[in-house]
Amino acid sequence: MVTSTVAPPDSPEVRKYNRIRRWLGIGEFVLGFGLLLVLLLTGWTGSIRDTAYGLASQGYVLAVFFYVVILILITKALGLGMEYYGFRLEHRYNLSNQRLRSWAWDEVKGLLLMIVLAGVLVELLYFIIRQFPQHWWILAWIGFLVISVLLVQLAPVLLFPIFYKFEPLQNEELKNRLVRLGEHAGTRVRGVYKWNLSEKSKKANAALTGLGNTRRIILADTLLDNYSADEIEAVLAHELGHHVHKHIMKGIAVEAGVTFVGFWAANWVLQYSIDRWHLFETISDFANLPLLVLIFVALSFLLMPALNAFSRYNERQADRYAFEHAAIQPFISSMNKLASQNMAERTPSRWVEWWFHSHPSISRRVTAAEAWAKSNT
Ligand SMILES: [Zn+2]
Repeated sequence: MVTSTVAPPDSPEVRKYNRIRRWLGIGEFVLGFGLLLVLLLTGWTGSIRDTAYGLASQGYVLAVFFYVVILILITKALGLGMEYYGFRLEHRYNLSNQRLRSWAWDEVKGLLLMIVLAGVLVELLYFIIRQFPQHWWILAWIGFLVISVLLVQLAPVLLFPIFYKFEPLQNEELKNRLVRLGEHAGTRVRGVYKWNLSEKSKKANAALTGLGNTRRIILADTLLDNYSADEIEAVLAHELGHHVHKHIMKGIAVEAGVTFVGFWAANWVLQYSIDRWHLFETISDFANLPLLVLIFVALSFLLMPALNAFSRYNERQADRYAFEHAAIQPFISSMNKLASQNMAERTPSRWVEWWFHSHPSISRRVTAAEAWAKSNT
């Protein structure tokens, strides 16, 4: 029996926590955007380039690398205060298990990873720009796509383990339930992994990750330890819904469209900055990197509502899959548990949900589950 419930109003504490998190996100964005603008308008990007050339004894490839490292270090130094505030915030609301030491170590690892990834990508980008100054943007776009697909595939085995421990799920009953769900769907997910999130957080989470032979569902231990087998099955069914509806591939396809426009616009603006603004002498002058990044940041900011709407559409599709293949009541109770455990807003304001949320609000998801149950009994 599913009884219809009216979502309880969110407590002032929950509202405040989410408001602060939102402002923190906006603050980080404004800081990054502002830095890029300042670098370009003051010409400091040129000074950094000259410093990089000095450090590299005038070698182009090494100078690109040093330039990227300096840019990343400046960004990190400016943003560190807000990141630390974010770390303290999780503790203030009793949502974190992470010690300061472990947080600092994560910061160091994140920084190194960023330098390696950005270093490789930017080197590749300016290699292409130097070799093909006319059509670089199409080739860079293709290269970017290939690397994106590769990263999505490698992330579960290469990137996530840098920050969290994973192990194959041992629970036989849950594994059997998943196999049954998969057989029902005529599909097979290769693995279900326990994600040791409790080392760092009290929040619960689950996700579908990877591509091809790394495709897997990951379930946080904070979820496995506190939810009933029926509730976990509902979560699994939702993640399987993402798999069946090929949401990861669709996400990559959408990204391909967005970055195509991004690279096209970048080429146009970079040429303009040389011919009209006389900011740079050649397109291969890597001091133009902040301008290139600025275009992508602006584009993703403008498209944020559309991309979030696309994500919410996918989430509703995965939810519907869960309604059809698992029980409704455990789905609803798992949603309510998640909301309390993660201090999520059950009923965010309409515009907040529209602009910021990649998932429909908990109240909407519960209402949809109840409506589905009502029309299918
Ligand atoms: Zn989902």
